[in-house]
Amino acid sequence: MTIPPSELSPTDIPRPPDPSDPTPSPESKKPWYLQIHTQILLALVLAVAVAGAMRGAGDDAAFEVTLPEEGRVAAVEQVKALSMKAGAVAAEPTDGAIEVRGDVGAFQVAMSDLKEAGYSVEVASAPVTYEVFNFIGALFLRLLKMIIVPLVLASVVTGMLGIGDTRALGRLGIKTLIYYTATTGLAVFAGLLVVNILQPGTGDVEGARALMESAKPPTLAPTPLADVFLGIVPTNVAQALAKGDLLSVIFFSIVLGLATVTVGERGRSLAAVFESFNDVIMKITDWVMLTAPVGVFALLAAVLLKTGFGLLFDLGWYMIAVVVGLAVHAFIVLPTLLMVLGRANPLTFAKAMLPALLTAFSTSSSSATLPVTLDSVTDRAGYNRQTSSFVLPLGATINMDGTALYESVAAIFIANLYGIDLTLGQQVTIFLVASLAAVGAAGIPSAGLVTMIMVLKAVGLPLEGIGLIAGVDRLLDMCRTTVNVWGDSVGVAVIDRFEPAARPGEPGAMGSSES
Ligand code: ASP
Repeated sequence: MTIPPSELSPTDIPRPPDPSDPTPSPESKKPWYLQIHTQILLALVLAVAVAGAMRGAGDDAAFEVTLPEEGRVAAVEQVKALSMKAGAVAAEPTDGAIEVRGDVGAFQVAMSDLKEAGYSVEVASAPVTYEVFNFIGALFLRLLKMIIVPLVLASVVTGMLGIGDTRALGRLGIKTLIYYTATTGLAVFAGLLVVNILQPGTGDVEGARALMESAKPPTLAPTPLADVFLGIVPTNVAQALAKGDLLSVIFFSIVLGLATVTVGERGRSLAAVFESFNDVIMKITDWVMLTAPVGVFALLAAVLLKTGFGLLFDLGWYMIAVVVGLAVHAFIVLPTLLMVLGRANPLTFAKAMLPALLTAFSTSSSSATLPVTLDSVTDRAGYNRQTSSFVLPLGATINMDGTALYESVAAIFIANLYGIDLTLGQQVTIFLVASLAAVGAAGIPSAGLVTMIMVLKAVGLPLEGIGLIAGVDRLLDMCRTTVNVWGDSVGVAVIDRFEPAARPGEPGAMGSSES
């Protein structure tokens, strides 16, 4: 039964907590084990345990390859070789077919390689548990994606209503761009520092070299940067909304919000519609968040079942370099900025942001995490909605500290593997291009791997290198996406501190009279 709007009193409409309201949010009144961040954390630990146990117990899957009549002997050899390369085992041929068996990862690689080689394959025993986890994870991702476009539209427009005029927006825009540029630069610098000290890809790297020989060159091409900028202005708003083109949606929402304020009285009813739309979308976000522990568990368990833990060893030193670089940025650089510029306690802030950070980790997508990031920054950390609704959607699309850092480390690793010595000038080029490539990377899984092409081309490194690091990309993507979202969140805390709208004495609103 629906209630006619006229019967709804203003108090029936759930409103997000006001940072100046000292009442603790319902979330913090729950016992620790029912709080969303504890549940997501437990879900991640459980996923590692379940995937580890299942791989140990050999969650095998199998498919059958039909052998051609002609050249059967050669075909058997080829099927065996391709299966072995993927880590699967091919049995002896019976009745013109061969059974190939392996764990989920090997099963999928062998099947796609054999299909590519022209064989017809049929699944004999599907990796059921993996498929169930994959399905639940995909469902959770779809729920998150479902709310991104309406959320960005509603939150950016209402944010603009609060900001009020183009001068205030200009000031916020400039502060945001300064923050993004500075932190991305610091991230690449941290990456270059760590990779030059650890030097992955030199020394005993036989395992990695062998993997490189079988690497396929990438087939996707990144969007040229000029097109990324041009694409900000949509030619068709409906299409931009339908395609989920976030930069265009943000641009249009900013213009729409500002125009609504500018027309004054005549814009009132539209403003009221957007405000109520925003509240409703935030409620849906809360509902989606309730499914996060299950979704996160399923996503991580599926990834671990598929990639396994084995690859970690062949490319171990490279992965360590990326993770150490990310850790330097996430645990030293950003918290320092948070304390010094944002005057906030990094531990308290990180705890409030935990649902967003863990969702970023398990989805590998800053855009998909955006609803959770907005929810955590405003409802859990108590920051100003106007600042966050401008800084976060933009950050999720263009501010990627983790990706920029990762691309610089990966480029130097590839250079080392090929025995190419990079000059200081080339490292400066990597610094600049990796920062730009991160701007061009969308907030979706593996986007950084595609824009990596720009970095390699800029310094003349072989593109095949990407095929090599693609094998471990998913795990590193999870880590760099977490840092991307952490960088955006710290951005809200820092920028909000310099916003006049922030309220003195409140979290995220300390020291407000600077500008
Ligand atoms: N997955 C990352 C993100 O969404 C982008 C990347 O691939 O680095 O933030």
